[in-house]
Amino acid sequence: MHYVDVHTHLTHERFKADLDLVIQRAVDAGLGAVVVNGLEPNSNREILQLAQDHPVIKPALGIYPIEAINDILPEDFAHPIAKFSVDDEIEFIREQAEKKNIMAVGECGLDGYWVGSETFARQEQVFEQLIEIAKNNDIPIIVHSRKLEKRTGEILAHHKVEKADFHCFCGRTKLAKQLAETHGWHFSIPANVLKNEAFQKMLKILPTESILTETDAPYLAPIRGERNEPANVVTTVAAFADIRSIEIDEAKNIIWQNYCRLFAIASTEC
Ligand SMILES: [Zn+2]
Repeated sequence: MHYVDVHTHLTHERFKADLDLVIQRAVDAGLGAVVVNGLEPNSNREILQLAQDHPVIKPALGIYPIEAINDILPEDFAHPIAKFSVDDEIEFIREQAEKKNIMAVGECGLDGYWVGSETFARQEQVFEQLIEIAKNNDIPIIVHSRKLEKRTGEILAHHKVEKADFHCFCGRTKLAKQLAETHGWHFSIPANVLKNEAFQKMLKILPTESILTETDAPYLAPIRGERNEPANVVTTVAAFADIRSIEIDEAKNIIWQNYCRLFAIASTEC
């Protein structure tokens, strides 16, 4: 039994100087898997290399919803987004999935926070192609759904997706519960849970078999302003144990088994 981080960005520049130490701290803290999620061509390729170098790193390749519309973003968009061919990247992800080089498709999904509705059709088109890759290869999809939680659920349901994890779900907790109960989808709760009542409520009301842990590192640190890292998933497991009045080991085991089931990990490794 181990801890697990199903959604993190260790390819972020804030990890460049001490990545080996960060990974070692995760292993020392008892993590058995750190699912590093890709965003665009560079991170996707770096992740494949990272996974070769470190057995604890499990690769997920994806296209972040904003990166998915890089060709229609205005030049003065708030964040610098490099131009690349989304179609070529979808093909690359498909190839890697077919070669069984990846554990999941992600990060991908829909974003209605940074961009407006004129981009939604294109976002959905890319999302749907990535859903097909995950489904055809029977691997989970890790989704971003900020401000479009309901629509994200509708698209996943339309494609009859069974293996999905909503990362950092910020919609109504009632909707999360309904999606978990109806479809068996998972929800990974970030390590800043003690600062966020909605995440605490999700730990309380979601079916236990739908709960996973994530960090979204370097973002969403337990202490605001600090850099987050995978070892911090212990915070969410402790909160889960506390909220459900169970032992930490039981909470840890529930989440580890959920990970093993969703990612189809061989029972010898669980
Ligand atoms: Zn993320």
